[in-house]
Amino acid sequence: MRCCVRSSGALSPALLRQVLSNSGCWGTVPGRHVLWLSPRHLATAGEPHATPLPSQARVVICGGGIVGTSVAYHLAKLGWTEIVLLEQGRLGAGTTRLCAGIISVAKPISIESKMADYSNALYERLEEETGVKTGYVKTGSLCLAQNQDRFLSLKRLASRLKVIGISCNVIKPKEVEKLHPLVNIHDLAGALHLPGDAVVSPPDINHALAVAAASHGVQIHERTTVNHVLVEKGHVTGVETDRGPIDCEYFINCAGQWAYELGQASEVKVSVPLHGCEHFYLLTKPTQQPLPANTPVVMDMDGRIYVRAWQGGVLSGGFEKNPKPIFTEGRNQLEIQNMQEDWDHFEPMLSALLRRMPSLESCEIHQLVNCPESFTPDMRCLMGETPGVNGYFVLAGMNSSGLSFAGGAGKYLAEWMTYGYPSGNVWPLENQALREPPEQPDIPAPPGHGSDAPAVRAEGASLGLPDGPAVTHEPPL
Ligand SMILES: Cc1cc2nc3c(=O)[nH]c(=O)nc-3n(C[C@H](O)[C@H](O)[C@H](O)COP(=O)(O)OP(=O)(O)OC[C@H]3O[C@@H](n4cnc5c(N)ncnc54)[C@H](O)[C@@H]3O)c2cc1C
Repeated sequence: MRCCVRSSGALSPALLRQVLSNSGCWGTVPGRHVLWLSPRHLATAGEPHATPLPSQARVVICGGGIVGTSVAYHLAKLGWTEIVLLEQGRLGAGTTRLCAGIISVAKPISIESKMADYSNALYERLEEETGVKTGYVKTGSLCLAQNQDRFLSLKRLASRLKVIGISCNVIKPKEVEKLHPLVNIHDLAGALHLPGDAVVSPPDINHALAVAAASHGVQIHERTTVNHVLVEKGHVTGVETDRGPIDCEYFINCAGQWAYELGQASEVKVSVPLHGCEHFYLLTKPTQQPLPANTPVVMDMDGRIYVRAWQGGVLSGGFEKNPKPIFTEGRNQLEIQNMQEDWDHFEPMLSALLRRMPSLESCEIHQLVNCPESFTPDMRCLMGETPGVNGYFVLAGMNSSGLSFAGGAGKYLAEWMTYGYPSGNVWPLENQALREPPEQPDIPAPPGHGSDAPAVRAEGASLGLPDGPAVTHEPPL
């Protein structure tokens, strides 16, 4: 493989000129209004904001990534009004910007598969609902097994998926060869084919969700930072932002990488146990026979890699045994940028890719992308209301599956806030068991909680945070 380009623009978001007529909260560029400002325009942070912040809202959502916009969309759909979404930079300029765009239902627990299945259906119809092009392509995916143990676990996954109504087929290596032109099958025991899996352009999905939310009355304010959350007598009363305060009854922390910091910055500290790690993927130039966009995604779990078609070539990332923690000190960057390449670190994943698809040897490399993603101690996302702080909800810690989860997780959280419980059993994701109670002397910690309490959410989970991730990444594929 030859490396020839180190460009900085990876999966760029399509600019949308569509008017957010209900919110009117666009950025201002001399002579025109746009929802999505280019980084160049954002660099001039002193620009006036088009619309003043409201002094009051029912719900304030912090974070304009795929998760925050999904929550806003689902709350608005359930009839909530006075929803304000605040984003410190541009919508979708966090981790969502560099997401690889794979929606997969092959998840370790059923509730996660259900969330991904719902997200898939939602993203498929968003283009029609909003008029925003989302790059949705139903590719299907192939989960490969290099040994009998893996094959058995894929067969178990297949049984579990069938029970919840998700179509999938256990197949032989020869059938893999028919479905994907590049896969080397010589060492495979078998595979699981998931015909419904898909790929999208994540910033465009983010954008479409924002447009849909705004059309249901959600106010979206970019370049507005939540500094801390105000709490009185154990209940959220408002937020302080860099543009002034907003009184509110509910606050939702969807701040992705920043969710931990934001929790710590609150008047009553809220524990959001997640940590950033670097996550890498490679983009190639088109292969000799450009790979069709609908080529199935490949998940080689034993090789710890995933591969999708990308502009005639491939996008391939992976989950290393020795992940690199990031942002261990100081503040996170304002907007996620492609970070430093580390070819030595990526080498095991590159070797696994060339072993699985040997013909890529002659393909030119376009770029190695490195973007932070947040991980939790037990690799489950954090969802729910904070113990001891009524009205403070969290949805964060997506463990590299945030695109797959955002639709379903946003729906469940919105139902939870509306009805007091969601329609799916989200207990395995419920965040209380991993949290410490807030430092509030008048509210006693529930039994089993507190700084000495063990993490009880999942067997084998370790609470090594926030000093650094205590987990080795198992592929969340
Ligand atoms: C390289 C890479 C590839 C990936 N590929 C996939 C994939 O193929 N499939 C998949 O399902 N998942 C994938 N993921 C994971 C997925 O991209 C993330 O889980 C998801 O984008 C997280 O979305 P989010 O909304 O939680 O975070 P973000 O997109 O980071 O959004 C959080 C937002 O909150 C804002 N914010 C933070 N603090 C404040 C504050 N105080 N005030 C105001 N705003 C604030 C930030 O600016 C940011 O925009 C990948 C991740 C990486 C890094």
